[in-house]
Amino acid sequence: MEISGHTQMLCLIGSPVGHSGSPAMYNYSFQKLGLDYVYLAFDIKEEDTSKAINALRLLNVKGFNITMPGKTAALSCCDELSKAAQLIGAVNTVVNENGKLIGHNTDGLGWVRNCREHGFEIRGKKMTIAGSGGAATAIEITSALEGMSEISIFARKDTFFANAEATVEKIRRHVSGCRVNLYDLEDRDLFYHEIEDSHIFTNATRVGMKPMDQESLIENPEVFRSDLTVSDVVYNPRETRLLSDAAVAGCKVIPGIGMLLWQGAEAFKLYTGKEMPVKEIMEKYFAV
Ligand code: NAD
Repeated sequence: MEISGHTQMLCLIGSPVGHSGSPAMYNYSFQKLGLDYVYLAFDIKEEDTSKAINALRLLNVKGFNITMPGKTAALSCCDELSKAAQLIGAVNTVVNENGKLIGHNTDGLGWVRNCREHGFEIRGKKMTIAGSGGAATAIEITSALEGMSEISIFARKDTFFANAEATVEKIRRHVSGCRVNLYDLEDRDLFYHEIEDSHIFTNATRVGMKPMDQESLIENPEVFRSDLTVSDVVYNPRETRLLSDAAVAGCKVIPGIGMLLWQGAEAFKLYTGKEMPVKEIMEKYFAV
């Protein structure tokens, strides 16, 4: 499609953005669906986030994604927030609805959708999850909002631990019908016991990502049962040690790359009201 005076812009802001796959993924999808949009990426430092958002508001762009480090700074620049963005405390997608900037967070929704696409419905299920950082918070809050019945969070007692304490507090206060507890990841007996009592285990820590790619939080293979689903947020490498150990033991495994793809697809749906051509995008841009 040719760019004309009617073409609308969407974009990514954050720093760095040069490595991002989003412009290729969205522009391919616009072309494929015949939508008159273009998608660009702008390198914006954290301290310039609000200036950039005000400029995008003035330009009346259709919407934009925010990557690190501006996801938290963007909260106060929006006119309204989705419940997920509000509780997660971060915005990764902003939609311009008739001049009003609505902030969303699709990271957790991307994880939920990835689970669904792998045949795992989260509603009414119990999850044990390790992690207290950005990815973990998005998954924990969104799972509670989307109907998970129980979440046992295990976290290392590092600087992120307070995030997990805040997450538990928010879920208890704002989401009914989801039981949530926080434990020290050092307590291995309790960790394995909670996994034994769960439908799904999720690794939402950096363990498994390079240079920790030989490591897994589950050292005891007896923890893997054939009716346990195992999901990982780490996507570099695509198959983490956790996932390969779990697959050998017969568990259903859900790789992290799908979360990355589906959080983009959920944003695409918010911008356009349409499904992104995910299968083709996966083959074209996400194949190893
Ligand atoms: P973060 O820095 O916000 O949080 C890191 C988390 O890992 C913290 O909870 C920390 O306590 C934990 N951690 C680090 N080292 C640990 C160790 N040795 N033992 C136990 N816990 C440890 O990071 P993040 O943004 O949440 O990213 C975490 C991982 O998720 C990264 O690998 C990132 O690439 C991946 N990620 C994937 C997606 C996706 O779409 N699949 C999205 C975001 C992040």
